[in-house]
Amino acid sequence: METKTPTSTPSNFIKNIVIEDLNSGKVSQVVTRFPPEPNGYLHIGHAKSIVLNFELADEFKGLTNLRFDDTNPVKEDTEYVESIKADVEWLGFKWDGLFFASNYFEEMYNRAVILIRKGLAYVDDQTADQIRESRGTLTAPGTNSPHRDCSVEENLSLFDRMRAGEFKDGERVLRAKIDMSSPNINFRDPVIYRVVHAHHHNTGDAWCIYPMYAYAHPIEDAIEGVTHSICTLEFEDQRPFYDWVIRECEMPNVPRQYEFARLNLTNTVMSKRKLKQLVDEKAVDGWDDPRMPTISGLRRRGFTPEAIRTFAREIGVARSNSTVDAKMLDHFIREDLKLKALRTMGILNPLKVVITNYPEDSVEMLDAENNSENPEMGSRQIPFSREIYIEQEDFMENPPNKYFRLFPGNEVRLKNAYFIKCNDFVKDDSGKVIELHCTYDVETKSGSGFTGRKVKGTIHWVDAKSAVPAEFRLYEPLILDDQEDENASFLENLNPNSLQIVQGFVEAGMKEAKPHDKFQFFRHGYFNVDPKHTTSDKLVFNLIVSLKSSFEV
Ligand code: ATP
Ligand code: MG
Repeated sequence: METKTPTSTPSNFIKNIVIEDLNSGKVSQVVTRFPPEPNGYLHIGHAKSIVLNFELADEFKGLTNLRFDDTNPVKEDTEYVESIKADVEWLGFKWDGLFFASNYFEEMYNRAVILIRKGLAYVDDQTADQIRESRGTLTAPGTNSPHRDCSVEENLSLFDRMRAGEFKDGERVLRAKIDMSSPNINFRDPVIYRVVHAHHHNTGDAWCIYPMYAYAHPIEDAIEGVTHSICTLEFEDQRPFYDWVIRECEMPNVPRQYEFARLNLTNTVMSKRKLKQLVDEKAVDGWDDPRMPTISGLRRRGFTPEAIRTFAREIGVARSNSTVDAKMLDHFIREDLKLKALRTMGILNPLKVVITNYPEDSVEMLDAENNSENPEMGSRQIPFSREIYIEQEDFMENPPNKYFRLFPGNEVRLKNAYFIKCNDFVKDDSGKVIELHCTYDVETKSGSGFTGRKVKGTIHWVDAKSAVPAEFRLYEPLILDDQEDENASFLENLNPNSLQIVQGFVEAGMKEAKPHDKFQFFRHGYFNVDPKHTTSDKLVFNLIVSLKSSFEV
């Protein structure tokens, strides 16, 4: 038999299982699925699951379905369905089948009838609280429901009446009949159907009973012929019930569940419930706010599918929970943009400089490399004239030691241009420096090979007359600390400085920049043209990531 050897993606325990199953002939084709509930937008944690499922199947010529696990009508919405499809596609993946769990409701119902006929399910009228109380604890067994031993006929009739809408929400449930003293609490007669009179985004008002996740999910997998059903570790204790449902519902296909550790990131909330709270309480500018860890937020911020995919692959697939440093994601976007992004100059906090010995109405064009690490990107011409803008922080009236930028009497290099020397400055009424007077030395032109003297500082600038006004949006983490405690309000831990907006200037040639164009601004970092706030007369840049990182992979 041909032995399949892993090639493209890093090895992990699930991939090893797949290789084993293919080699032993247990499965002939791998089928995986990505099964989001359409109750929110996808986040970076989902990206880990997407990359794992799609790449695993892809590597072994298998199939991956996108399946909406839409069994809870109250929280689900078509807006989420559409956003999820768009995000999966943007990440670069194509699903083989597109399915909705809700399209299997009839079959799920019929399978529940099989359970009832086999004496393996019964209708209960205890309240949710009563059911919880009678379930017992880890050390004490549960107690049987008074309805546990009702006849098959009675249960069939009651389940039928549940479906027909005769009961109000919570009045009746269908429970699997397994073992009220099982050491696995999931086996203590779990609820598998409940009454919910609510409009469903896909099935409308056709149903008023809905299957529970733990019952529905194995059936969905089996209907689609999924071979490896990959989920996060919290579902490990559910696996025996997953197998029970497949067996007792007599599903022709037998999928297997495998669990891996979910992605946790420092300073990042990743539960959809919490992300929705941020959106609903307007703590952020929608699901795609560039500070959000959602795929749409990362896209708007300027992250690329390549960087996210590489990140998802490199963090690995393990069976123990851990937290990944968010700096690692930054590392991969820097790596991705390093050779691709045009390196240009932008001034975030402008200070005007008048070059007093430069001819008044003269403008010259200077040559500037587009990316010093990638000569293939060529060069461009940038205008230079008598007035320019530099960063406020590049001038100090009374500098400390080792400050090599501008101060009275000091000379610096202007990137791509000349040496300039500061002779004088102007203050406003409040004592703030608002203008510098400098002189330039025509001999020191960039590229001229001038070796007459050296200067220690190189600063960036833009030509004042031709500069294009630009808004820069600078970001810090949205959350101050990691807040693992479910009860603590993470909304109280929001970073008040997570968004800072400044008005500055960029080079004349950037007038034509389009949404999602990405640039490296010299000495600042990588920026993305914001697709939401940029208009024909206002450029808005999102800081993707700053240049420096103490993090090395
Ligand atoms: P959340 O807790 O954020 O609401 P969820 O698990 O309820 O997430 P689903 O829509 O059910 O969200 O998730 C779809 C798939 O994505 C599931 O298979 C789930 O295991 C996986 N997934 C969700 N969050 C993560 C994560 N942080 N890391 C890895 N996989 C995840
Ligand atoms: Mg879930």
